[in-house]
Amino acid sequence: MQTIEAVSMLFRSLRNLSREAPLQLLPVRCQSNATSTEVNTAANFHFVPVSDPADLQDIEELQDFVRTSKRLFVITGAGISTESGIPDYRSEGVGLYARSDNRPVQYADFLSSSAIRQRYWARNYVGWPKFSSFSPNVSHKTLSGWEAVGKLHWLVTQNVDSLHVKAGSRKVTELHGSAARVMCLSCPAVIPRHDMQKRIKHLNPVWHAESQEMAPDADVFLTPEQIEGFTVPTCTQCGGILKPQIVFFGDNVAKPTVQFVHRMLEESDAMLVAGSSLQVYSAYRFVSAARDQKKPIAVLNIGPTRGDKLADLKVSARCGDVLPQIQL
Ligand SMILES: [Zn+2]
Repeated sequence: MQTIEAVSMLFRSLRNLSREAPLQLLPVRCQSNATSTEVNTAANFHFVPVSDPADLQDIEELQDFVRTSKRLFVITGAGISTESGIPDYRSEGVGLYARSDNRPVQYADFLSSSAIRQRYWARNYVGWPKFSSFSPNVSHKTLSGWEAVGKLHWLVTQNVDSLHVKAGSRKVTELHGSAARVMCLSCPAVIPRHDMQKRIKHLNPVWHAESQEMAPDADVFLTPEQIEGFTVPTCTQCGGILKPQIVFFGDNVAKPTVQFVHRMLEESDAMLVAGSSLQVYSAYRFVSAARDQKKPIAVLNIGPTRGDKLADLKVSARCGDVLPQIQL
């Protein structure tokens, strides 16, 4: 009890501190005698919506929920990565949509316009060094630990930041792909995003731009003048168009992926949603399917979600405040 209160106080003070500090992504490790809870960076909390500390009774109920399950299915969204310093799209006040007019590229526009591809890759090129440096936080590590002890049957994430994989999760489907890979739209070629970065640099030896804005997919804002003269690489195998291996807005998750996730869900006995408002249908459909299969559903998210009416248990708190406290 005392430890939990100490942790909550620590997070509250950290959050206040981070909101007053200018945006920076320098790592700051929190030292405290009160807890061993790991906090990646104080600045990480810039993109975490304000929330009350987790209620002790809520934590106990969620713990009972997780303990009862033998084959837990977990869905995560942007809310699990905001504590790593990556913004989400929709959170009130701190999400990309609230802070900026910047909107993600639509798949059809990317396909049809070389100017839009040039803009996309120039912005992505500038955002990649920072985006690729983000680290898993305590929530990613907790779920990786649940897999290691056999609690977790399957993990589905809507995030393209690969942080679950970086945290050691293997039983994971990246529903919307990963920004760490680049695919050709005309042949089967797939290359690591880091290799794409080298190719872009090679083609644009003197081009340089900087931006402070960051979106959940490594996109940053640049002016048209900044983008001038930027050259986009094509596939070395066939000359085709290169695109991050992520599902763009306006595109659909591949059917085999959806079928596979449904199979994993059928094999599971309970569902936990962590850090997602479930506004996007690609994830919501699995919650709906879990309800149809009469599987118990718990939702852990700051603020309301589209799945609240289907949930048996709702905890409105920060993932990093709750998940590490669950004792299996
Ligand atoms: Zn190709």
